[in-house]
Formats: sequence, structure tokens, C-alpha cells
Amino acid sequence: MSAPAEPEGKELSPVDFIQLQQYIDYCSLKVKDVLREFDADGQLAQYRHGECIGEDGFRLFLKTYLEVEEFPADLCQRLFRSFQTTPQAREVCLKDVSCYFSLLEDGQPRDKLEFAFRLYDRDGNGVLDSSEVDRIIAQMMHAADYLGWDVSELRPVLKDMMTAIDADSSGTVSLDEWVEGGMNNIPLLVLLGLKVTHKDGQHLWRMKHFNRPVYCNVCQSMLLGLRKQGLCCTCCMYTVHGRCANRNPAPCIRTYVKSKKDAGISAHDWVSGNCDSGKCDRCQKKIKSLQGLTGKRCVWCHTMRHGECANQKPSECNCGPLRDHILPPWAIYPVIKERPNCVKDGCTGGPDDTDHNTTPDGQVLQIIPIPDTHPLLVFVNPKSGGKQGERVLRKFQYLLNPRQVYNLSSGGPGPGLCFFRDLQDYRILVCGGDGTVGWILDAIDKAGLPVCPPVAVLPLGTGNDLARCLRWGGGYDGVDLSRILKEIEYSTPVLMDRWSVQVELEDSQERGDPVPYEIINNYFSIGVDASIAHRFHTMREKHPQKFNSRMKNKLWYFEFATSETISASCKKLKECLTIECCGIQLDLSNLSLEGIAVLNIPSMHGGSNLWGEAKKSDRAGQEVPEVIVDPEVLKVSPQDMSDERLEVVGLEGAMEMGQIYTGLKSAVRLAKTSKITIRTRKAMPMQIDGEPWMQPPCTIHITHKNQARMLMAPQAKSSFFNLK
Ligand SMILES: [Zn+2]
Ligand SMILES: [Zn+2]
Ligand SMILES: [Zn+2]
Ligand SMILES: [Zn+2]
Repeated sequence: MSAPAEPEGKELSPVDFIQLQQYIDYCSLKVKDVLREFDADGQLAQYRHGECIGEDGFRLFLKTYLEVEEFPADLCQRLFRSFQTTPQAREVCLKDVSCYFSLLEDGQPRDKLEFAFRLYDRDGNGVLDSSEVDRIIAQMMHAADYLGWDVSELRPVLKDMMTAIDADSSGTVSLDEWVEGGMNNIPLLVLLGLKVTHKDGQHLWRMKHFNRPVYCNVCQSMLLGLRKQGLCCTCCMYTVHGRCANRNPAPCIRTYVKSKKDAGISAHDWVSGNCDSGKCDRCQKKIKSLQGLTGKRCVWCHTMRHGECANQKPSECNCGPLRDHILPPWAIYPVIKERPNCVKDGCTGGPDDTDHNTTPDGQVLQIIPIPDTHPLLVFVNPKSGGKQGERVLRKFQYLLNPRQVYNLSSGGPGPGLCFFRDLQDYRILVCGGDGTVGWILDAIDKAGLPVCPPVAVLPLGTGNDLARCLRWGGGYDGVDLSRILKEIEYSTPVLMDRWSVQVELEDSQERGDPVPYEIINNYFSIGVDASIAHRFHTMREKHPQKFNSRMKNKLWYFEFATSETISASCKKLKECLTIECCGIQLDLSNLSLEGIAVLNIPSMHGGSNLWGEAKKSDRAGQEVPEVIVDPEVLKVSPQDMSDERLEVVGLEGAMEMGQIYTGLKSAVRLAKTSKITIRTRKAMPMQIDGEPWMQPPCTIHITHKNQARMLMAPQAKSSFFNLK
């Protein structure tokens, strides 16, 4: 087989590839599931001719794998061509296709290696000959090429690996040899989507593109090439050639000190290179570029020094501008003890996160407080906002100590809360959507912490009503995260009510969708608004490709809001439900409503304010009554997320909803109350915090649960955020 990476690489443009990646990100099937359909008894068996499939079969492969009705024909054709071994070939090898796509999907490197092996082990005898191995490598190069790697860098690495794997030069490779060799090859692991939790001394590699000259920290020569030229550590920015990653690079930065006697003693941690034209913090002279690794930079305070100045005093590190947030290594030390309180409180996480809070040899790490700081415990939902979450995770791992940054997809919030629980003064930052914030607030409730830390939000993805109300904005635009950290430093704690929802079915036999949450943080609605959301939700599940950007989501929502057909089911709302606020039944008889919304915060569906502004009341400072239904009093009642009251509003129909969403109008104020009971007589669309579902006849009780401590961003909110 020819090397497919070079000539055919031109066929698929980067835009094509991004499109393909988006399809893959949304699909839930695995390549091996699709492959089964091409087996003798599978649905697509007729399209398989020996080891090959034609263009029809290829199209069906994509359709099945990506779960789409229509895949763009031109993209399909270009993809097909990229697998052809000769321009005339009318068929492509099914294994090549499978191997390629399996490399792009989520999964553990070991599984991917094994999958590739079994795919190419024709006779299933457990060994590959050299031509089979060459084909796997060709597909790896193919995938790497589209991921934007400089493959000229990768080719020698893979060649070296093959030589090393086939130690006895027998010309064949066993599964064990193959997996073993692959797992010890760093560039290959990065390509296969290496997922490891940070261990001391071990770099967190990723492939990186540099648009300025950089030098390898191992061999000191320049990284060449035009695309992703080398590997760079996320935590310390140590940079190497792909081939040099396997040559015992210096260990990564320390994240804790070895014993209690070193605790509290601050010291810079220097990494060489990339200080061109910076100023030395010791001798104050410019650091001249030397066509090589220039100067040293402290990973905590980010000051720079000449190589020879770095070893001199002063060696104390003040952690620089982010001092208030950083949990420096000298604040963490190992203790030999069990951690019974964590197990007892049920805050143990999944299997792969325990090493986050322990040393490689299993000692438990403990934090000692650094005076006058508020270490930030960061939770990132890497799945929020497309790939934004992953970027944010990496940036925080660099800006802060990797041990204070937690990836929610590996183990949830338990381990982080557990690690920080004995601190008196710390803050939490949640990076994700409102759903992620709700998840963390829940975890804080359940962890029974001695001190409840206040929570700030970095909004990712769409919606983000909670983040908007707390002035963190509606979405993250990629602004420098150290600015956001500064804003967190100057934020103020506020309380936010949280509400319990209990749904009792009229007829226990009847089945609707499951109720998504038991707690309301933002809002709850029945009828027209929820119906739009429900249709939107169902549509998104069916046609994910139409919903893959924030702007598109907004447009679709609007389209639903103004569509005629949906309102029919909600037209006779008042005949279908009754609402009681603290025992007072609301009189809906003179209103023509198609929906009811119950609000905790002044933002809904990405920034719409349903309650609207209230004229300044002269009752300020007075205790708010348990329930208000008098329209005149409601007119002057402002909304407040900490008054232990909910606002109830009526929605008049889809057209009015459109006006409300665009800020032209507010809804009809019905009540302000501390307790609500709603009875419905027919199945109705409902939603909690943007999660819609269909609910059979039931009784709903909404009562105050507790108050969460949140952080409100400083007033003069920057325009960096996407305030829409
Ligand atoms: Zn090198
Ligand atoms: Zn590192
Ligand atoms: Zn420093
Ligand atoms: Zn100097």
C-alpha cells in the first residue's frame, strides 16, 4: 500500500475535517458496531465484497456510523477518494476505513491499539506480518494528517516504534508486543487520545502548532515543519520533538512537596526556554534570543530569568498575579493515613480519579492553607460548549496547579470537594452550562462540607441563564482566563434560593418521560414555552447536525417560537390546570394563557427577562409576605434570587413568547410566593432549567429547599463576554 498521507491528504480540506469531527462528536455508535452490519448476517452484508466496499457501501457506512439521514455527497466523495489506493480503484478497504474512524472516536488508547490489531489480523492467529503493520501505520498517519500533525515528524517515530516492537526481527508482531510497544510510545499515545490524570513528574502531552521558532527541551534543536510540529506539556509548556518525547525528557513540574517540613516554603520552579526578549527578574537585563532554548520561566509566577540567574537568590516565589487562586506545591504534602471521612461522606469518585489526590506511591495528599489566599477549586465539564471545555481545562492546568483542576468527566466533583474540604477559605469555579452548575451545587449539598465555599461560573455552551444573572455572561468567547481569574478575585458572595420539585402522578400506571431534576435553580414552566423546548429537544436528538453551533441553536429556537402548529396543545390551558400559591388559588378566568412559568432567577432561555423590571418600591427593606397576588403590589415587586420567593407569570402564546424572547415585552405577573401546588388534568409539556419533558396528569409541589452561596462578578462587567 502506498503511503496515503501525502497525495490524498490534499483531497480533504481542514474545513471538511472539522465538519467530519462535528459529526463524529455527535454520534453515539462505535466503528465496531457498524462493522458488524457488514458481517454475513448484517444489514449491509451485500455491500461488502471480500475486504472491500464500493462508494455505495461507503456512503451507507457513514450514514450508519454518524446516524444521519443525509451526509453531504461531495464530502462523502472526497472522503472516499482519500481511502483509494489508486485513483482508479472503485473500491476501498473496509479495514482502512474502520481503523481510520476508530482513531478519531473517543476511547482508551489500549482499546484502540487492540482494535487496530484485530482488524488487521486477517486469519485471527494473533500475529501481524510486516505488511499488515505497515497498513495500520499508514492509517495512523492518515488520521494524524487530518488532525493537523506534521506527519514528517511522526513517520520516523512510528518507524522506530516498529523496529523496537519486533525485537527479534522475526517479521511478525504479537498482540502483546503491539500493545506494549504502542503504550510506551508517547507521540503515538497522544495521537490515540491519551487520557491520563496528572501524576507528578509526568508531562501532560498534546500535539501543538507553533507560529514562532521554538526549540526542543531535549535535543535543543529547532522544531521544524509547518503544522503541529511537536509535543508540548499542558502544565509546564515543556516542548519536544515527537521523537524526543521517547528519550527520557526532564520530569514535569512538582505539584506538591515531598514532606511536611518543606510545606510552606515557597520556591520558583523553572522551565527552560521561550523567554525571547523578556526581561530578567533578577538582573533586570533583557534576555537575548540565542537561536536555542532562551532563559528560564517560573511556572507559578511566570517571571523570567537568564539561565544563570535562575539559580541565584531570591528564590522565593510569590505566585505572581494569580497568587490569590493558586494552590502552590508547597501547600500540599503527603501524609500516611487513611481518609475515612471521605468514604463515609460518599464523596469517593470513579475508579480513575483517586490518583489526583494521592502520590504515585499511594500516600494521601493534604493541603495546608497559605495565608491571605483563596485557592480556587476548578471543575471543568469538557463536554460543554463543543471543544471549548477541553481548551479551558488545559489553560487552567497551566495557569494553576493541575491538582486544583478537575475534569468532571473522570470521576465527577467528589474527589475535588474531598481534597479541599478541610480548608476554611476557598472558592469554587464551575466551567460548563447551567446543568453543570446544578450538578456541583447538588454535590456540595450532599458532601456535608464543614464550610460551604462560594461558587463562580465560567459559562460554556448555550443558554447559561444562571451565569448571566451572576454577571458572568452568556458564553465564553476565548478571552484570556487570567482576566476572568481577576474578576473572580473581586467578585462578591450572594445567596441563591434553590427549590424542591415533587411530582405525584394521578394515575401511577401512566408513563411520561422521566422528570429531569428534583431541584429548580432557574425556572420551571408548563405549556407553550415548554412545548417549544420539547420540540426543539426532540428535533436536536434527531438531527444533531442542524444544531452544532450556538448561533444556529438560537435561530432554531426562534423558528419554533414563531411556528403556528405548536400552540394548539396549550390553547385551553386554564381548563387543564389549577395553581395554588400558599393555599390561594390563582384566578386565571379572565386571562387567555397558553403557558405558566415559575421563576427563581431573572433570566430564561439565554437572557430573556420574563418578570421584567420593577419600579422602585417604597417597601424596600420590609419583609416580603409569604404570598402576593394583588396586581398593584406585584407591579412594584422586584425579582430577587435570595428572597425565598418564586415569581409566577402567565405566557399568552407563541407570538408573545417571541416578543418576550426579544425583550419587547414581559409576561403577565400572577404571583410572588414561597410555596406552589399545581394540578394538571391532561398530559402537558413541562421543563425545569431548560430540560423539557412530557408529563401525564399530576400534582406538582414546589417548596423552598435551601440557599446556595454563589459569586457575583464585579459590576462593570467587561465586554469580553458574549452578552446577548
Ligand atoms: Zn528534540
Ligand atoms: Zn510538564
Ligand atoms: Zn515563581
Ligand atoms: Zn539575569
